[in-house]
Amino acid sequence: MNIAVIGSGYVGLVTGTCMAETGNNVTCVDNNAEKVALMQNGEIPIYEPHLDVLFERNIRDGRLHFTTDLKSAVDKAQIIFLALPTPPGEDGSADLSYVLGVATELGKIISDYKTIVDKSTVPVGTAEKVRDAIAANTKTEFDVVSNPEFLREGFAVDDFMKPDRVVIGTSSERARKVMEELYKPFTRQGNPILFMDERSAELTKYAANAFLATKISFMNEIANFCELVGADVDAVRMGIGTDSRIGKRFLFPGIGYGGSCFPKDVQALAKSGMNEGYEFKILKNVMKVNERQKTILLGPILDYFNGSLSNVTIAVWGLAFKPDTDDIREAPALHMIEHLLEAGAKIVAYDPEAMENVRKLRNLHITLAEDQYAALDGADALLICTEWSAFRNPDFDRMASAMKNNVIFDGRNLYDLDRMSELGYFYKSVGRETVGQVIVV
Ligand code: NAD
Repeated sequence: MNIAVIGSGYVGLVTGTCMAETGNNVTCVDNNAEKVALMQNGEIPIYEPHLDVLFERNIRDGRLHFTTDLKSAVDKAQIIFLALPTPPGEDGSADLSYVLGVATELGKIISDYKTIVDKSTVPVGTAEKVRDAIAANTKTEFDVVSNPEFLREGFAVDDFMKPDRVVIGTSSERARKVMEELYKPFTRQGNPILFMDERSAELTKYAANAFLATKISFMNEIANFCELVGADVDAVRMGIGTDSRIGKRFLFPGIGYGGSCFPKDVQALAKSGMNEGYEFKILKNVMKVNERQKTILLGPILDYFNGSLSNVTIAVWGLAFKPDTDDIREAPALHMIEHLLEAGAKIVAYDPEAMENVRKLRNLHITLAEDQYAALDGADALLICTEWSAFRNPDFDRMASAMKNNVIFDGRNLYDLDRMSELGYFYKSVGRETVGQVIVV
């Protein structure tokens, strides 16, 4: 099949590449000329593990193309994916201007039947708005399908190639057949394609993200309470996670969720509720808990340094909102760093993949280190914000000799308490006992 993917970011580029991998002829469109030039040059503008192999193979085999020219891509495509941004608007609702703007353009361009597939995360009723925006500009036949995407950055290729399920919202028999054919290669292991109406498909995506965010905020509350009553959140996590009704995933406490999806999607769903006169009481508190959690280690850091961070250097490990991505959108690390800078600290940070994106933040006055140990040189404390694998089993002796004090604030609970105690570290994590003595500085 001939496919156009409009918007070649984390979702669009993965969708386009994986669709090419199953034999389709795909053109990825983006209005960012710099990004398109990079891709035409065989370079991937994002960090996403395992994408490179598929990307290179499909370019080489002539199935994957890139352009800024919407019309040329659309003219030859039977299926058009919209993988456009839906950032939060001023009032917290999803900003649909990218999606509806492109829909209007499509109306002016299409001259034969197209299946137009919305992969962006959009509020209930958007498929109808997209349909109206296109229909206002054409007499040509087309269908609009809602096909929300559930991939996780860091595992995007695997998630796309072997999805738990594919959700397709459509009321058109013709579009249903097209989508079934398209997704067959991805569902060979019996993972279902769930057909439903457009509105239910749109809501499914928000419900999934809101539920996962709820699980994280719930666990963060339990972690905070553990500290008050002398319980260990790791034990509690295992204790509840082994219950098959609860499951082990998304139960890790820390310094809150971030990224381009959870914060905006929870907020947008809550706003959709308000627009319908419905108050999502749980979601309001999920957001409040997350806001508080993002700075949960700020108090302990200030306490450790007697309330003042002037002349204090803090090394930060991890800037991406989670490991295995270079995405820093809504990253808890950046939130913490802003507060630490305000309090007078000097920050030296390291991240395996996200530093290039951080460098573009002109107003963020921090030093970026060459590697994780260089970040520790002369530091008064280490703050861990992202659980990259390379941070899990570091050389603690090397760390100790680089740092001024053996002090770690761990926002991701990476280390064993007994081990940290044996090594003589002051170690403060989330929802667990603090080990070690405050070393007077
Ligand atoms: P992104 O910002 O990485 O990519 C969007 C791309 O669209 C950018 O490259 C941008 O240049 C391009 N673009 C903007 N306007 C355009 C236009 N008029 N014409 C052509 N290209 C245009 O965003 P993303 O993370 O890929 O997210 C896209 C959508 O998918 C959002 O609705 C998001 O909520 C949803 N989603 C994201 C993820 C994720 O993990 N990132 C997962 C599932 C769903």
